[in-house]
Amino acid sequence: MKKITFLLVVFLALFSCQKTDSEETNPLLNAVLYMQQSAEYKALTLQIYNNAAIHLERALADKNWTAATEQNGDYQNLPPAVILDVDETVLDNSAYEAQLINSGRSYTSESFAAWCKEARAGIVPGALKFCTAARKKGVTIFYVTNRGNAQKEDTRKNLRRLGFPLEKEIETILPRTDSSDKGKRRAEIAKRFRILLLIGDNAGDCFSGFTHASQVKRDSLVRVYQSHWGSKWIILPNPSYGDWESALFDYNYKLPQSEKLKIKRSRLVE
Ligand SMILES: [Mg+2]
Repeated sequence: MKKITFLLVVFLALFSCQKTDSEETNPLLNAVLYMQQSAEYKALTLQIYNNAAIHLERALADKNWTAATEQNGDYQNLPPAVILDVDETVLDNSAYEAQLINSGRSYTSESFAAWCKEARAGIVPGALKFCTAARKKGVTIFYVTNRGNAQKEDTRKNLRRLGFPLEKEIETILPRTDSSDKGKRRAEIAKRFRILLLIGDNAGDCFSGFTHASQVKRDSLVRVYQSHWGSKWIILPNPSYGDWESALFDYNYKLPQSEKLKIKRSRLVE
C-alpha cells in the first residue's frame, strides 16, 4: 500500500511539473503580462503619444509636411488628418489574448469576432488623450483597421463607449477591404486630407512596403526610412502578435503551433 501511495505521489509530482512547463512555454504569456501588468508598457505608450503630440504641432505648422508616401499633388491646403490603426494602437485587446492563454486556444477569426462584438476592449494608454487633443485642434481622426467590415459597427461601439472622436458627416472607420495592405485606404484619405501622422503597432500601418514582406526586407526598410520613425511614423510596441511574428514563418498561418514554435526557436540568436 505504501508503495502504491509513493508511486502515486511521484506520478502526481511529475504530472504537475509537466503542466507547469507547458504553461510557462505559452509564447503569449510574457508578452501579455508585459502589456497588462508592467509599468514600462504604460510608460512606453504614454511616451510615444506624448512625442506624437509634439510632432503633431510641427506637422500642423508645416504645410509641406505629409506622413503618407501615398500623398502627392497639391495637398498643402487640404484639411489635416491623422491616421491610426485600431488594435493595440488605440484599443487594448490584451484581455482577449489572456483568454487564449487561459483556455489553451490559439487565435481564430471567429473567437476574435466574438470578442469584438463585446466591444469591451480597453484604451492603449495615451491614445485617448492624444486623439481628443488633436480633434480639438481641427484634425480629423481616421481609424484604418484590418478588422473586417462585419466588425465595423462593433468597433464603432467600442470606440464611442471609450470616448474616442468619431465624425457624423464622414466615415472615419475604414476596415479591411479586399486586402490587408492599408496603402489604398491611405491613398483615398490623402485625396481629401493632408496626413500629418501615421500611428500603429505594425510597420505596415505606416508604409505598404512592410506588408507581407520578408523579415530581411522589413529590416532593410526600417533603415531606409530611419528619419521617419518617431516623427511622421509612430510605432507602438506589440510583443503579442503582428507581422514581426508572422514574417518569421513566412506568413504561413496554417502551420501547426508546434511547427511555428520550432521555427521561432531556430530564429533565436545566441
Ligand atoms: Mg494593430
